[in-house]
Amino acid sequence: MSLLSERVLNMSTSATLAMAAKTRELKAQGKDIIGLSLGEPDFNTPDYIKDAAIQAINENYNSYSPVDGYVELKEAIINKFKRDNNLTYTLPQIVVSTGAKQALANVASVLLNKGDEVILPCPYWVSYEDIVELFEGVPVEVKTSIDNDFKMTPEQLEAAITPKTKMIWYSSPCNPSGSLYSTEELRALADVLQKYPDIYVVSDEIYEHINFTENGHASMAQFDDMYDRTVTVNGVSKAFAMTGWRIGFIGAPEKIARACTKMQGQITSGANCIAQRATITALNESPSRVKFMIDEFKIRRDLVLNLLSEVEGFQNNTPEGAFYVFPNVSYYFGKTLKGKKINNATDFSLFLLEEALVATVTGDAFGNPDCIRISYAASQEQIIEAIKRIKEALS
Ligand code: PMP
Ligand code: GLU
Repeated sequence: MSLLSERVLNMSTSATLAMAAKTRELKAQGKDIIGLSLGEPDFNTPDYIKDAAIQAINENYNSYSPVDGYVELKEAIINKFKRDNNLTYTLPQIVVSTGAKQALANVASVLLNKGDEVILPCPYWVSYEDIVELFEGVPVEVKTSIDNDFKMTPEQLEAAITPKTKMIWYSSPCNPSGSLYSTEELRALADVLQKYPDIYVVSDEIYEHINFTENGHASMAQFDDMYDRTVTVNGVSKAFAMTGWRIGFIGAPEKIARACTKMQGQITSGANCIAQRATITALNESPSRVKFMIDEFKIRRDLVLNLLSEVEGFQNNTPEGAFYVFPNVSYYFGKTLKGKKINNATDFSLFLLEEALVATVTGDAFGNPDCIRISYAASQEQIIEAIKRIKEALS
């Protein structure tokens, strides 16, 4: 009998976290690696949020919180959904978790039975596939193309639906492509779903505020006919530079929210109490207080695209949100660079790590083996130096 369960043996290690660990290890060995692999803002958490946490510590917030989160936080989340997304939720529809990652795992655990299919438009965020498989669901990948800005069309959605389809999961803004679904595009997908009233949608909106367009953010739950079968996932990691604080949340049909609370109550209990108190302040304050970070990400987006346009063999879309570019690098497949045969995006990403000392993530991890992901949550100086090194290594 093997020591470890088949469950964990069959699971892949998170490629983003693995690359971050590798970067840390190489840096510790004294190598001058530029880390563009992790989706983590390089800003400090704003002072007004840190102050709220310090106050919470001094006010002795040190006990278990309710499993689904403090009522004051759930109220702040309800106000945020109303203010930013025009979505109306009530207290029993909100669950606060240890990051959006746990929120997603909760949802999969309470909705999936063995063999249920989950449609994942590719590229998708690295953990979707493994979370679905962990709960015995079957990921159904829908390949999108750079020509359609990596977005799933209504025709593709319809073709992927089978009697076993339980859910569709996507992120918008998308990690890793930076693509956004507009209200019209979501409506067109929702129109397809009208024929399939048992299919649920998990709409991961964690990059909501990191949006470079004038059109604003669109949520699937905004449509009356989708509201009762959409789980809206969000959190404070990205826009508020709070990745390590670990707070995410859902707005969901009450039955699903209650089931998530039941599941979480057996696995982790309520999220960290100090981080929850700080999140009340983060959400109650106007999102305009973090706009300086979004403005900087936009400058970096333009900088990266501009610099990459001069690198041979990189084909880019124009990301409208998040902080990633996802260039197609298949031009290099089959070529030998500095004595190394490049067969796929994983080889290419490793080549960049070893020869350019720049950490990226292979597109394989996101269900697209032709691309690599470059995070521009790094300073402009680092971005300029990284792309200079990439260019030199490839020349
Ligand atoms: N969804 C997406 C699309 C992400 O990029 C991330 C980043 N880790 C998460 C969910 C999870 O975020 P967290 O657990 O930090 O809230
Ligand atoms: N979401 C980030 C990323 O994609 C953080 C890493 C992770 O949670 O896997 O890089």
